[in-house]
Amino acid sequence: MGLLACIEAGGTKFVAGVGTGPDDLVAATFPTEDPEGTVAQVVGFLQAQSGGRLRAAGIASFGPVDLDPQSARFGHITATPKLAWRDFDLKGAVERALGVPAGFDTDVNAAALSEARWGAAQGLSDFIYLTIGTGIGGGAVVNGRLVHGLMHPEMGHMRVPHDRAADAFEGCCPYHGDCWEGLASGHAMELRWGAKGRTLPPDHPAWALEARYLALGLTTLVCTLSPKRIIMGGGVMQQDALFPRVRAELLALLNGYIQLDTLLQDIESYVVPPGLGNRAGVLGALALAEEAAKM
Ligand code: ADP
Ligand code: ZN
Repeated sequence: MGLLACIEAGGTKFVAGVGTGPDDLVAATFPTEDPEGTVAQVVGFLQAQSGGRLRAAGIASFGPVDLDPQSARFGHITATPKLAWRDFDLKGAVERALGVPAGFDTDVNAAALSEARWGAAQGLSDFIYLTIGTGIGGGAVVNGRLVHGLMHPEMGHMRVPHDRAADAFEGCCPYHGDCWEGLASGHAMELRWGAKGRTLPPDHPAWALEARYLALGLTTLVCTLSPKRIIMGGGVMQQDALFPRVRAELLALLNGYIQLDTLLQDIESYVVPPGLGNRAGVLGALALAEEAAKM
């Protein structure tokens, strides 16, 4: 039979595990250092944990990544500002070191898969998974399949209205300035207010502005992809007061246009936290390993 290994590759840490699902996963965390050293540590853990009896692996990676199976760079990290990781063949390095095939996708696409399999999107053919963390990322399932398309969605880089009279912060995206991530990521909050999100009290004006920006992005997603649910994870969403505010702003922005009970009567079940909490990413890598094992 053989065991399944999963790797969540993040910009600050890697989480690696061996197991079969949320109730059966032995995982460990490693700081993200140079590519070769980090992969060596992760692989060492996975080999020890599995006794060398692995059947397949899954990798949920920070991006951007090349996801085109026809591309010579399939499985590589591409244009990251983390220079040591640029053009690194993460999928190939893990496959060579472990000697098994590895499923590969973005961290948010993978998290969407695990939420569908075990979490807050079970039974849903159309939904979106978002993470509002250091950056903003999103994965979409449409008609029961993850959207890949041209590359993979980059929801964090959509444009949202920016009223500079109300918010003079110019935005922090190195590519676009005031795109969604540039205005509403955890990093943007830190730069705008000069303090980390978790230190800002619930009545601080930061939260009303944040809820507004998040809801502006959600409005576009609701109107373009028609999701049946939106899951919002990531560090910034740890702020409890944010969910009710985001839901209220979303309804206000839609302004009665979408006349469905899902939105109007049950908004608490429409915009939700991840069912798997902060394990959605690593469990998503496990779902990718399951798929790789079937190939
Ligand atoms: P990453 O995106 O790096 O994988 P996280 O999802 O944990 O990691 O997001 C980190 C971001 O979330 C940071 O900008 C941090 O300031 C912010 N953050 C963490 N906890 C909270 C909190 N309780 N309230 C608001 N912001 C928070
Ligand atoms: Zn951007």
